[in-house]
Amino acid sequence: MTHPRVGVVGAGQLARMMLPEAIALDVGLALLAADPADAAAQRSPDVTVGGDLATFAAACDALTFDHELVDPTALAEAAGAGAVLRPSPRALRFAQDKIHQRTQFAAHGLPVPEHAIAEHADGVRAAGEALGWPLVLKAPLGGYDGRGVVTVGGPDEAAAALEALGGPPVLAERAVALDAELAVLVARRPSGETVRYPPTLTVQADGICTELLAPAGLHEAVLEAAGEVADRVAALVDAVGVLAIELFVEGGEVLVNEVATRPHNSGHWTIDGAVTSQFANHLRGVLDWPLGSTAMTVGAAATVNILGPGDGHDPRAARAATLAVPGVAIHWYGKGARPGRKLGHVTAVGEEADETRARAQRAASILLGEEAGDGR
Ligand code: ADP
Repeated sequence: MTHPRVGVVGAGQLARMMLPEAIALDVGLALLAADPADAAAQRSPDVTVGGDLATFAAACDALTFDHELVDPTALAEAAGAGAVLRPSPRALRFAQDKIHQRTQFAAHGLPVPEHAIAEHADGVRAAGEALGWPLVLKAPLGGYDGRGVVTVGGPDEAAAALEALGGPPVLAERAVALDAELAVLVARRPSGETVRYPPTLTVQADGICTELLAPAGLHEAVLEAAGEVADRVAALVDAVGVLAIELFVEGGEVLVNEVATRPHNSGHWTIDGAVTSQFANHLRGVLDWPLGSTAMTVGAAATVNILGPGDGHDPRAARAATLAVPGVAIHWYGKGARPGRKLGHVTAVGEEADETRARAQRAASILLGEEAGDGR
């Protein structure tokens, strides 16, 4: 691959943030978009809208993904026609199917929340008796940002919860008493060579990640355990490019929640706060090129996700005022401003964790119009 062309299935914000890294390496990035207005498609000269995956893949040296919701039959067809899929369909399946993922991780001795697979409402009730109420139910396919996750208070709610998730089978799991949530990103080459970023503390509200903090600021033993578990997951999944491992922390123990086989929201701070961003390392892994240092370049990085405000106004109007906050970067995804939609993020970098977080929060509230800024 001297002058490679990498195909990306999907043209959302992750593909958009791969673009500058591809430009820097002078690697061609071809996008398979659903719509010309998709976040990355608006900014790229090399976009295919719709069309057949195998045909798109045939014109690329390697194929990677902006999201995991890709039809396995189409992947198998592309692989059969000689496409280089990075990661492989086998790796992608972990991120596509929560039941497969959880079952495999448990079978390989990884620490996971106690769980059961419920095939009907009685199965949900039996799981609740065994694991305790409330019980967390998850649809195996297609969930993100907490969609596809329902908390069931007791046996009377079992049938309605199952229905809300589109019916069985569902993953039923114990409600973990969360002390914190972490994400660990690794980048991997096809040979298995792996680099790992410092664990990121992820702050959630209503099942949506709102803030990222690096360093995570938890006890060293917890961070070490998180790193070890992440390495084991990466080897089992046989990831190529970036793999994100989301972890629960409960009473000093780490439990694997789920993985994403691609760059991930939890790694957005690496653009401004690490030697090599997750997007650069993803492309390097996909191309089987040497991976870059994951070390932080700053003492602290804090990212706040910008969700569309309830009144529907477009926060971009406040970009200049936001940028008057020192040490802050804005990353905008080019999406229409709908309430609750992830429109972009701001990252603050600095020396000290609390001060850096406060600056990121201030930038976010100026951008959202909740606080006046002093920029013009
Ligand atoms: P999604 O795939 O939609 O991101 P997740 O499985 O990551 O769904 O769940 C979203 C959030 O819901 C988690 O980040 C966590 O805050 C909460 N959550 C999920 N499962 C559990 C659980 N078993 N116990 C407690 N909280 C949970």
